[in-house]
Parts: sequence; structure tokens; C-alpha cells
Amino acid sequence: MTESPAPPEDRARWRNWAGNQRAVADVVRPGSADEVAAVLTAATAAGRRVRPIGSGHSFTGIGSPEDVQLVCDGMVGVRSVTDDGLVTVGSGTTLHRLNAELLRRGWSMTNLGDIDRQTIAGALATGTHGTGARFGGLATQVRGLELVTPDGEVLACSADRSPDVFRAARVGLGALGVVTEVTLQAEPAFALRAVEGPGTLTAALGDFTDLMTSTDHVEFYWFPHTDATLLKCNTRVPLEEGLHPLPRWRAVWDDEILANAAFAGVVAAGRRVPALVPPLARMSAKALGARTWTDHSHRVFVSRRRVRFLEMEYAVPCADAAAVLAELRRVHEASDWRSAFPVEVRVAAADDIPLSTASGRATAYIAAHVPAGNEPGPWFDALEQIAGEVGGRPHWGKLHGLDAGQLRDRYPRYDEFVAVRDRLDPGGVLSNAYLDRVLGPVGAHRPR
Ligand SMILES: Cc1cc2nc3c(=O)[nH]c(=O)nc-3n(C[C@H](O)[C@H](O)[C@H](O)COP(=O)(O)OP(=O)(O)OC[C@H]3O[C@@H](n4cnc5c(N)ncnc54)[C@H](O)[C@@H]3O)c2cc1C
Repeated sequence: MTESPAPPEDRARWRNWAGNQRAVADVVRPGSADEVAAVLTAATAAGRRVRPIGSGHSFTGIGSPEDVQLVCDGMVGVRSVTDDGLVTVGSGTTLHRLNAELLRRGWSMTNLGDIDRQTIAGALATGTHGTGARFGGLATQVRGLELVTPDGEVLACSADRSPDVFRAARVGLGALGVVTEVTLQAEPAFALRAVEGPGTLTAALGDFTDLMTSTDHVEFYWFPHTDATLLKCNTRVPLEEGLHPLPRWRAVWDDEILANAAFAGVVAAGRRVPALVPPLARMSAKALGARTWTDHSHRVFVSRRRVRFLEMEYAVPCADAAAVLAELRRVHEASDWRSAFPVEVRVAAADDIPLSTASGRATAYIAAHVPAGNEPGPWFDALEQIAGEVGGRPHWGKLHGLDAGQLRDRYPRYDEFVAVRDRLDPGGVLSNAYLDRVLGPVGAHRPR
């Protein structure tokens, strides 16, 4: 669809964090909603496709530009905070900057995923979530959005203004408009007491619901080739109770040396000699010992991820999670696959967002990983097939093989989203190959 190639100096390479998605496209860096509108109207007139660019932390091609990459780093920072914690922030703000700026003002995000490198708009667009049976993904904190539609309209939406756009755009896949500003409900800054230690998959499957609701934010990592898990239970505590962060040496030892440097060695050794993976997995499972600490919430929620990997994550009904995990273990044990990376298991409350992976149902998330540069192969196929049997929904930013027809069956409100997309972007200016696959071309779906 590119018509007039831009001069070479305007073009730049783009690649995602994992290195499995690459592109070359023109670059624009608007600093305001009006400048975004000018980019979009020019692209619409020229029949070019525009992709808003976040931090490139999606594994799928959702963020891959075709003609124009619209970089959002000119729209950053907290713009206002009301007395009741409504925070308005530029869409290109990274989560680590947002967390720091919120804490300085006495506020926190309610829940976070396990890293903070993403932009707020990028994280929202794919339905980024953390863990906690009573808590939704990041998009459930959104109270207002300013987005620029392909015809150049700057649209402020909320539950009261353009509510149909607002409902859909909280998890908008970057398909409804370029978000320029986000208003979030923050909450008074709080701390998390983290209790981490070894467990077993057998125990986790024995009473999955009890375990995952045993405190506010529970997750575990299961190490294939073993029955071992690493269990993380985070409890919300008032800041007044005081912080007991990890001593610096322990944080460096656990989070940098064991979780990153040593693990990188394990992954590299496993790639060279696959037969070493099972014993190395058993060693990895034992290496991370028990620890208890209390720190500002965002410091407990997030970690550093220096070892590059590819990921698939499926959202399944919470009630089916134990059966899905048991079947995944059975299939893995019956195979000769080598899996150095643990399987991550988290939960979230049901929400009311059409394309949220937790839309309308209490959800458990099951994520598999392989080293970046490896073919995911049958391990990801197995997760996709087993999760599919219970209506599993793939994370929009993590690898999967589903198309529009299959996804439509998994989301009761899929047509509601697509109708808003077809209205706001009739020319498909904000589409790309991935969005064509998962949403279908504009106008492709008839109401059920
Ligand atoms: C190491 C690692 C850890 C992760 N941990 C988690 C986790 O704990 N939980 C979880 O759910 N996910 C997790 N993810 C996935 C990640 O949160 C999502 O893929 C997220 O979308 C990445 O944000 P980003 O800023 O990099 O956006 P990108 O990947 O760059 O873009 C994602 C989408 O957002 C769109 N977009 C960006 N800016 C705008 C804008 N201004 N307006 C409209 N659309 C926009 C893009 O066009 C694209 O469609 C992880 C990924 C990695 C690599």
C-alpha cells in the first residue's frame, strides 16, 4: 500500500524487544494531538498505514510498522493529578517513569505486570495484566482517553463521553486511534509484603483456587521436567507499617545474578546441549531460595528481564486452569521437548472490556517461553491446543496462531469492537498485517 517512498533519511529500522519482528518504515515524532492529527490525515489522503510505536515489547507483529512509525516519545509525563487520584499522563510515558512520578506525589498503580519498560498506551493496547484474583488488568484503571482518529478528529472519551469508543478503546490494539493522553485511577501509595519460596505443581493443582486467592497477588512458576514451582505471594500493606527491602547484596544476587546472569548461562548451555536442559531445569528450580521482604508496590510487582525470550500466553477460565496445567504437564512428560524456561501462572478478575482477555470471566493466565532465536515449535502448539479446548484467549501481544474467525468465537463482544473499528478507521490506516489477521479487513464481519 506504500505509494511514494520517503527519502532515505526519514526511514528507520524497527525491531521488537525479542528481535523476532523487524521492519523499515518512515519515522514521525509528533509532540501533540494536533500534530498526530496532521500525520493521520496526510496518511489517510496518501493511502499509507500508520503504526503508533510503544517500547516494542510485544512478541506478535501488533506493533510492526508498514509505512509510517509514529513514535510517541514526544508525549510523555504526568500532566495532572486530582485530589482523588485521577492521573492524566502522556501516552508515550513508560511505566517506570509513571511509577516514579506517581510515588513522588503519593500515589500508585493498583496492579502491574512483571516489567515496567512498556509505554502506558502500548501496555493498555494489548491488555497487559499482572496477577491478583480480585484485581483486573491495567486497562481496568482507565477512566478517560484522548485519541486521534484517522480522519484527524481529537476525541476525548470516557464512560460518559463517546462511551462506545471508550468501552472498546481501553484495550484497543492500537486499531481505533492514536492515544495521546490517558487518565487513570491511581490509589494511595502502598507497599507489598512479598513471600517467595519453593512449592510443587502437584500442590498447586490440588487446590488451585485456594492457592491463587490465598492473598492479594499470587503467581507461580512451574519448571518443566520437575514438579517444582517458585511461588510468589504479595500482600498489600499500608506504607505506615514500614518498608523492609531486600539488602542490596541479596537483590543483586537473586535478581541480577541468579535470575538473569546464571539463567542466561542455563539457557545458553541448554541451546548447545539440549540433553542438559532437564538437569539444568532441576538446578534452576532449586537455586531461587525463600525470601520475605516489603517494599513500595511497584518495586515488588516488577523485575528485570535481561534474558531474551519468546512468549505465548493464554487466558483460560479460572475454573479450568488446573485441568489445563495438568494436561500441559502430561503432554510435556510424554514428549522429548526440552524446556529451560518456567511456565508462569497468574490470575485476574473478570472485567467488562470487549477485547480484554479477562472479558466477562475470572481468568487464569498460563505462559510458556522459549529462548529468543529458537523456534517455539510443538511446546507452544500444545499450549495453544490445550487452552483452545476451554475457549482460551491469547494475549494480544504474545505469540499465537489464531485468526479473526477463531477469535470471534472466543470473545462474545468481538463484533462490538469491530463495529467501532470499522466506523473510526474505514480505510484501515491504523491496521497492519497482524491486525488484518486478528480483526479481519475493515467491513469483513457481518453481525451474528
Ligand atoms: C520481558 C517482557 C515482559 C512482559 N511482561 C508482561 C506482563 O507481565 N503482563 C502482560 O500482560 N504482558 C507482558 N508483556 C507484554 C507487554 O506488556 C505488551 O506486549 C505491551 O503491549 C508492550 O508495550 P509496548 O509499550 O512495548 O507496546 P508495543 O509492543 O510497542 O505496542 C503494542 C501495541 O500498542 C500500540 N500502541 C503503542 N502506542 C500507542 C498509542 N499511543 N496509541 C494507540 N496504540 C498504541 C501499538 O501500535 C501496538 O499495537 C511483557 C513483554 C516482555 C517483552
